[in-house]
Amino acid sequence: MHQIIIIGTGFGAQAIALALIKQNITDFVMLERRSFAGGTWKQNRYPGAAVDVQSPLYSLSATPYPWTRMFAKQAELAKYTDDMFDRFNLWAYIKLNHNVIRSVWDEEAQSWQVDIADQPSLKAQFLINATGPLSTPVIPNFIGKERFRGTHFHTNDWPADFSLHNKKVAIIGSGASATQVIPAIVDQVKHLHVFQRTPHWVISRPDMKFPKWVQRLLNKKWFYFPLRAAIYWALETRVIAFKYFPGILRFVGEWPAQRLLKKQVSDPKLRAALTPDYTIGCKRIIMSDTLYPALTKANVSFHDKTDGIGEITANGVTTSQGESIDLDVIVYATGFDATDGLISYPVTGIDQQTLSDFWHDYPRAYLGTSVPFCPNFFIMTGPNTGIGHTSAIVVIESQVEYIMQAIKAVRDQKCQSIAPTVEAEASYTNFVHSEMENTVWHKGGCNSWYKSASGKVIAMFPGFSFTFRKLCKKFKLGDHTLV
Ligand SMILES: Cc1cc2nc3c(=O)[nH]c(=O)nc-3n(C[C@H](O)[C@H](O)[C@H](O)COP(=O)(O)OP(=O)(O)OC[C@H]3O[C@@H](n4cnc5c(N)ncnc54)[C@H](O)[C@@H]3O)c2cc1C
Repeated sequence: MHQIIIIGTGFGAQAIALALIKQNITDFVMLERRSFAGGTWKQNRYPGAAVDVQSPLYSLSATPYPWTRMFAKQAELAKYTDDMFDRFNLWAYIKLNHNVIRSVWDEEAQSWQVDIADQPSLKAQFLINATGPLSTPVIPNFIGKERFRGTHFHTNDWPADFSLHNKKVAIIGSGASATQVIPAIVDQVKHLHVFQRTPHWVISRPDMKFPKWVQRLLNKKWFYFPLRAAIYWALETRVIAFKYFPGILRFVGEWPAQRLLKKQVSDPKLRAALTPDYTIGCKRIIMSDTLYPALTKANVSFHDKTDGIGEITANGVTTSQGESIDLDVIVYATGFDATDGLISYPVTGIDQQTLSDFWHDYPRAYLGTSVPFCPNFFIMTGPNTGIGHTSAIVVIESQVEYIMQAIKAVRDQKCQSIAPTVEAEASYTNFVHSEMENTVWHKGGCNSWYKSASGKVIAMFPGFSFTFRKLCKKFKLGDHTLV
């Protein structure tokens, strides 16, 4: 029996592990379903993969880091992840190839039983789910998908050492991953077919390489943390437009995006197909200076929704307009199961209540982190903890503050378990969805992965990240039941 089990090894798991170690709580394990640790940036190795939040802010607050550029690429993020494991000796806590398939609360023993595929079950007093909001890839059920005889994969599962040289390739999807892949592969392939269902707003990416002397400064706390704060506050101002004055988005978002499109795409038909019909910010804003030039290359055919996938055949794709396209490779850039299937295994709490029943209408949680009938259970990056304007790690570290205080409350009160009351969770969830009413994510006129099947926006926190942090920091014992 452990005191704590953490499921996952991405930044969510790393952040909570560092906080536990800081409090001298070392009786915990980190379970990882894959054969390697690290989450998002170890897994997503597709060409062009890079973060779209400035790296000094998209990093754990525990230590400065000598980033080589403002928006780190995947290889550097993967190295950063390994460096954090080394530096804080996290390897000692990690169990690889431990795929959690079920977790059940034992009311009598006041502990969680965690079932793992092909491994003995484990038990712990506290269970922290850090399985990631964008960890389980999704490929829609295109007609004939299974017939294709060429190579096919999701961007999340890009095969190692795979060459696209001189191949006929289709990429299906136009979201964040597709827009990074397209410019990275366009010059290798013989021909690239891009299938876009919905256009995204694209703005310029203020990336830069840091010279060596800046990298040295980045390693100093006195330089790193003020820079991090400056980036944080600059990004935070975006919420004013996203939530309070969406009208401003036209000037600060749509106009620069339209200027970029006009400058980089001269064909009016393509330009029209690339122009979204919803308010900027409603879907994730793409930052790229290389996407549009790639789409205008002679070896690219662009298919919008009027000419989408009709069916997939043994040799390629037949478009909805009846054109047969021969392909060697299909790349699915079709996203992740980010909304209703937030947790990849069944969770059963008090009185056999299951999380999926509780989430029947839509996923919900107190502070996006805990649920009434699941004592000692915490969900990193849970419902409504997403943030479109800043680093996910800012939110993750806010959740860590709440979780650490909840664990401390159990110890201080000499109890065994803690869970939010039904009323506290309901009141928080009502607050979130009423605050969401006027946001661009709710009213911006788009369908996005931010919304669950219920139509509710369940991925985003509707406000400033410092508001969320304040809520997490100000632990309310009265909102909880302790046993
Ligand atoms: C391609 C891509 C680009 C992104 N870019 C940005 C960005 O620019 N800015 C930003 O703020 N955020 C970005 N994100 C969001 C990203 O998910 C978060 O920033 C952050 O990495 C989440 O960390 P995590 O630990 O919660 O999840 P993850 O990093 O996904 O880690 C979850 C881990 O849990 C493991 N796991 C899942 N289920 C189980 C199970 N049943 N048993 C055991 N282990 C399990 C997974 O294998 C994985 O290793 C991006 C995500 C993706 C996929």
